[in-house]
Amino acid sequence: MQTVALAGNPNVGKSTLFNALTGGKQHTGNWSGKTVGAATGRCPGRCYEFADLPGTYALDGGGADERAAEEFLLSGKADCTVVVCDATSLQRTLILALQVLNVASKVIVCVNLQDEAEKNGIFVLPENLQRELRVPVVMTSAGKRRGLEELLDTIDRTLAEPAQPHPTWEEPVEAAGEIARRATRTVASARVLRQQKIDRLLVSPLWGRGIALLFLLAIVWITVYGANYPSQWLENLTELGYTLLCRALSGAPDWLSGALLDGMYATAARVISVMVPPMAIFFALFSLLEDVGYLPRLAFLLDGCMARCGGCGKQALTLCMGLGCNAVGVMGCRILENPRERMHAMVTNAFVPCNGRFPTLICLAAAFFPSFWSTVAVAGCVVLGMGGAMLVSGRLNRLGGSEGAAFLMELPPFRRPQLGKILRSALLDRTAHIALRALRVAAPAGLALWVFANSSIFSAVIRFLDPIGVLFGLSGAILLGFLFSLPANELFLPVLLIALTGAGSLVQVGTLSQEALLGALSWKTAACTMVFTLFHWPCATTLATIYWETRSARATLLGFALPTAAGLWCCFVLNILLSFL
Ligand code: GDP
Repeated sequence: MQTVALAGNPNVGKSTLFNALTGGKQHTGNWSGKTVGAATGRCPGRCYEFADLPGTYALDGGGADERAAEEFLLSGKADCTVVVCDATSLQRTLILALQVLNVASKVIVCVNLQDEAEKNGIFVLPENLQRELRVPVVMTSAGKRRGLEELLDTIDRTLAEPAQPHPTWEEPVEAAGEIARRATRTVASARVLRQQKIDRLLVSPLWGRGIALLFLLAIVWITVYGANYPSQWLENLTELGYTLLCRALSGAPDWLSGALLDGMYATAARVISVMVPPMAIFFALFSLLEDVGYLPRLAFLLDGCMARCGGCGKQALTLCMGLGCNAVGVMGCRILENPRERMHAMVTNAFVPCNGRFPTLICLAAAFFPSFWSTVAVAGCVVLGMGGAMLVSGRLNRLGGSEGAAFLMELPPFRRPQLGKILRSALLDRTAHIALRALRVAAPAGLALWVFANSSIFSAVIRFLDPIGVLFGLSGAILLGFLFSLPANELFLPVLLIALTGAGSLVQVGTLSQEALLGALSWKTAACTMVFTLFHWPCATTLATIYWETRSARATLLGFALPTAAGLWCCFVLNILLSFL
């Protein structure tokens, strides 16, 4: 099996090309730094595999991923290298192509994003480029699947033929400018001017921050209200399933039907009906902003705050990724070059609420705050989480003697989002993933919970935890819920409902989670629970990811202890303040 490497600057469409060629599902998004680690995939009908390398600006770059891409290219593992360039920024993206030409023998230059370049009035002339580089040049629009056949034919030919000599470049940066000038024709475009105007507004300190806040409120509002209907439908559906299963198991002994239905089925059904809709909606809206190209603008806006705290704007991107899933956010920290800052960003990523904690925040806010204020409360939690992560990681950076690297990141152009891809990934991939996880984690946890809840130890543990919980404005039942949800944050709400109501299973709790919460908690306790939902130990997957990324038990322990300490401290203070009301 021969290997074809896909190399190129970040955000030139390598992963889109990889997916189109292999039918793969590499994450694509409109910002630099999202492909961390190389992926491989086979092209149907061809006897070679593609390796999608992380984006790199140059072969001598300093980041861990740039080094990984460089090592791959220099190791000679690739039988042929396709360097993907961006037709809208040919000069900048050619620099890497020239550097690769200096070290590799079989190279193809693929100029992608041709459609976007033409809309912007930039026309690349492939014959001229080929004459200059003396290697095959193929024009593609991977997003529209244009030029792919020609690219595959060119790869076939290049692999079959012996390597052809091509020139090398002593000064790739200067040479790239000269070659790009000879190989492009440009005409003035009103579209580019319009984009620049919008950009100035979005990154301006006052307007930009106001717009960012509005976006956040809108996303939370749509998630809070939009989730109600599908949650209700799913709840009705799972209740129907319960009735049918009850009938099917009517002859079984009580302990068996209790364990299977009230334990495993009821917990998994609750996780699916309460958790999946807000997750799917939030994730779809988040992917929309990512695809349009808004995330780097947000990182740019946050760079000032991050710098003041002692961090760098790139970390803001990893925090945004943490909103989806903290484990992904921790992995995304690979884009940070300084190892110490990277570690600090990893251990504080869990300060931002992930998708698994959003539904709990939403449920508590919706139960205890009047309509509009519940949106403000959840949005406030996001801001608080981001602020906490910045403050603590910045403080750690300063203690460690680093001051936050300068933020060098390109702002990608705005792109029309691929709605089909977003819906597919949010509703099918993501929802299927969560449903499977619910079955894998929630069903066994539900069984353990059922056994535990029907034993005398359950109330004894709650009684034992009660005085500790009360000190922090919580209760023994709430602490138990948090402890039980270490495998997955999605478990918190079901466990809390059982623990609060003293019911042996979720079936006895009653259908509406919000009503059950209202009956069992005061608003002050709910406020402290929201804060502790925001700041407490990360789930087991995130902790394992911190360990895999750092190979350090100390860092993993810090990742556990920091948010927990912050949560206990905040709840302790909030509890005292609220006691005066
Ligand atoms: P990578 O960082 O190089 O892997 O880039 P991605 O594959 O994630 O693509 C970056 C962005 O460019 C995404 O928003 C893609 O949807 C978009 N994109 C990729 N190829 C094309 C293309 O040919 N035309 C257009 N208009 N957009 C594209």
